[in-house]
Amino acid sequence: MLKICNISKSFNKVNILDNVSVTIAEGSIFGLAGPSGSGKSTLLRCIQRLESSDSGEICCNHKVAFMFQDFQLFPHMTVLQNLIYAPALKSTAEEKQLFIYKAREILRDLGIEEKASVYPGTLSGGQKQRVALARSLMIDPDVLLCDEPTSGLDMVSIMDVVALLQKVNEQLGVTIVIASHDLVFLTKVADRIALIKSGKIAVDLKPSQCTDPVKDLKEYY
Ligand code: ADP
Ligand code: MG
Repeated sequence: MLKICNISKSFNKVNILDNVSVTIAEGSIFGLAGPSGSGKSTLLRCIQRLESSDSGEICCNHKVAFMFQDFQLFPHMTVLQNLIYAPALKSTAEEKQLFIYKAREILRDLGIEEKASVYPGTLSGGQKQRVALARSLMIDPDVLLCDEPTSGLDMVSIMDVVALLQKVNEQLGVTIVIASHDLVFLTKVADRIALIKSGKIAVDLKPSQCTDPVKDLKEYY
């Protein structure tokens, strides 16, 4: 379970998150919606402890991986090298071989095995997204935080991301938290969506229980 209790965070005296509390069920896909600048990324960064909150507490005794909005792949490394770089930093040659094996397996699962030895610059946006996802799976995370995973992708690639994240959630049991301004995408992928506005959670709903979840969410924009 991932429990966010009374988190507040301000930048330059502007309250971005104002006493936000939410409990995210283990094994679920949770969507964070909200207008640009509403604090979605800030909340993800607080969960990953890339940012400290001013007050409140985040209870999470899980291994957490973060998938950045702009992928942050190393351009001078091949796809395979991108995947094994961090895990292999302090490992023996033998362990490194195991990471290479594991990386190839993850790439195969995500359908980009044949891209193992190319450089990120030669990949499409959708392929880069798969590599970023593959890299975040190298640490066997319990929780995966995805910041705007569909930004810059076309509709076909967006549907691929929906399928991929659902596969990771179902087959690996990874709890996924997705920050996105794309309500259509979020309502397709998430079990539950909370919309942040003016520092608060304005609405919290389950798309499967709504006739038109996008419309319901838009009312709070
Ligand atoms: P969202 O992801 O919902 O678009 P963010 O969490 O990125 O929103 O940002 C929320 C607000 O906090 C924005 O106004 C942004 O400019 C501000 N902000 C975020 N990070 C910082 C920072 N490190 N320093 C100053 N202001 C920041
Ligand atoms: Mg953001």
